[in-house]
Amino acid sequence: MRVVNCTGYRTDDLAKFLRAGLKAMGAEWQSYRIDVFAEGRRKISRAGLGYHRVWMVLREQFLMADGAWWAPSGSASAYADKPRRVDVERFARVFEHEVGHTLGLKHAEMSDHREGPPPAWCAGLEIRPKEPKAKPTPADRAAAREAHVRAMLAKAERRLKIAKATVRRWRAKAKHYDRRRAAESRGPGAP
Ligand SMILES: [Zn+2]
Repeated sequence: MRVVNCTGYRTDDLAKFLRAGLKAMGAEWQSYRIDVFAEGRRKISRAGLGYHRVWMVLREQFLMADGAWWAPSGSASAYADKPRRVDVERFARVFEHEVGHTLGLKHAEMSDHREGPPPAWCAGLEIRPKEPKAKPTPADRAAAREAHVRAMLAKAERRLKIAKATVRRWRAKAKHYDRRRAAESRGPGAP
């Protein structure tokens, strides 16, 4: 299974979730490629009819001041500073529907995925937001530069050591010819 993650949510969580769904449906999960998009970049999820490819749209919900989770339609940029989560049950329902298509099912052969209880396999699974990357401090940058300097020095020292060993080896070989030339210049009959 290959998951191409174009969202702000964790790839490991997504992979675990999608694998659970595929296994529960008896699909050959290893051969699937699943692209996951944030809502806005794509509007609706879709699947290959009879082949193992799914494009999923991940719908986010944001925590409002009144304590309710709200899923805006369209751009979510106005909610960027609010706590976020994935509507996991809805995602699971849509995913089951799309996997049904990959198994060759058409709409007439499927029940409405918006009705009935949510798929049992998604119980307890979570799709967590990625941790925001911490901005490096001046001390972090200085430490990174020092580490680079020390690594380059160690590399140069290793190369120098190898070069010295190489010089010793060729010098020993050259000595053989030095001795031969010395013998020649003394000429035959010399002591
Ligand atoms: Zn459909």
